Amino acid sequence: MKKTTVYFDNAATTRISGSVIAGIEPYLKEQYGNPSSLYSLGREGERAVARSREQVAAALGCDSREVYFTGGGSESNNWAISSAVKSWSNQSNRQSKSHIITSAFEHHAVLHVCESLDADITYLPVYENGVVRVEDLEKAIRPETSLVTVMYANNEIGTVQPIAEMGDFIADWNKKYAEKGSSKRCLFHTDAVQAVGNVDTAVKALKVDMLSLSAHKFHGMKGVGVLYVKKGVKLPPFILGGAQESNRRAGTENVAGIVGLGIAVEEAVQGLESKNAALLKKRGRIYNEVMKIAKTRLNGDLERRLSNNLNFSFEGIEGEALLLQLDLKGIAASSGSACTSGSLDPSHVLLALGLPHETAHGSLRLSMSRYTTDEEVDYLLEQLPPIVERLRAMSPIWHGS
Ligand SMILES: *Cc1c(COP(=O)(O)O)cnc(C)c1O
Repeated sequence: MKKTTVYFDNAATTRISGSVIAGIEPYLKEQYGNPSSLYSLGREGERAVARSREQVAAALGCDSREVYFTGGGSESNNWAISSAVKSWSNQSNRQSKSHIITSAFEHHAVLHVCESLDADITYLPVYENGVVRVEDLEKAIRPETSLVTVMYANNEIGTVQPIAEMGDFIADWNKKYAEKGSSKRCLFHTDAVQAVGNVDTAVKALKVDMLSLSAHKFHGMKGVGVLYVKKGVKLPPFILGGAQESNRRAGTENVAGIVGLGIAVEEAVQGLESKNAALLKKRGRIYNEVMKIAKTRLNGDLERRLSNNLNFSFEGIEGEALLLQLDLKGIAASSGSACTSGSLDPSHVLLALGLPHETAHGSLRLSMSRYTTDEEVDYLLEQLPPIVERLRAMSPIWHGS
């Protein structure tokens, strides 16, 4: 048995890069000052946070004043969604209930927030290929729509959504109202947690008002993220207290985490094309080999998909059993999202694609990173097919191919 972990679960979290560890070390050891303090130890912390804010701004193609540090992707989503709806109802002339448009297969940190608010919700369908259609957004939008929130890339099946096209449509929609002298404004948010470092996240081209990201999905630390908020968007504060983050998100800054996020995001957006080319080669090899296994399906579109993601269903096989067998061989992978595994519910993402319950239970997500090696791919391809075969031989619901 292999001792080291062969890691195919980068959509759940990633290893911290060496330069991030080196970059944050001084802030754990010597530079521990509170950024709000007046003495030099504190001022160095303040400078470090400012530097990181510039690095994020460069990666997103925005102004550093549009970057707010948070406690991670979930918090960024909570803030963006709850604040958009709150600022809508704060406007005195709103009699009707506000309306949110989202998609059926968002992360729970989006779906559960939407459901907690006093708003009507429309879930855009994602079809069998796992991609929303702009025409469905056009049909769903209403004068009382306060927010459209659609993820940039799905965390289970990696399918990439037409964010720029949706942004174009929403900008036109808002313009029409502005021309009529209305202050009505539908905000557009995207959960880009899976997208950073995989696809272009320059916010101007996406025409989003808000965008969430999380450091631990691109080789930074857990528990730190960013909410990008476009200049001019009125965003109520999320955590009340001190004056940190321009009075909008109180609490002493996680200086080390923020420093690491800055380094990680800079590395993540560097050489995107060559990184993707390398990942596509590995992904192609895995896809071709795994699809040779009888009664196997790929979940989600193959083309409109992150280069690091594959998600398969093997007929007659329980996802959990497969993961345990892979773990015995030192391979870390997952079935759906890290937040739903451990529960026996089928994946809401796969159900949204229209898959039957049995299939939605039995999926395998393989997600790579720039650290994934050809040797790891070789090892996976050597181990996976016989495991599937063995499990099927024992399965009461498998009737052979
Ligand atoms: C991981 C993830 C989140 C949650 O981010 P955390 O930093 O773990 O809170 C939100 N959305 C998507 C798409 C994710 O993959």
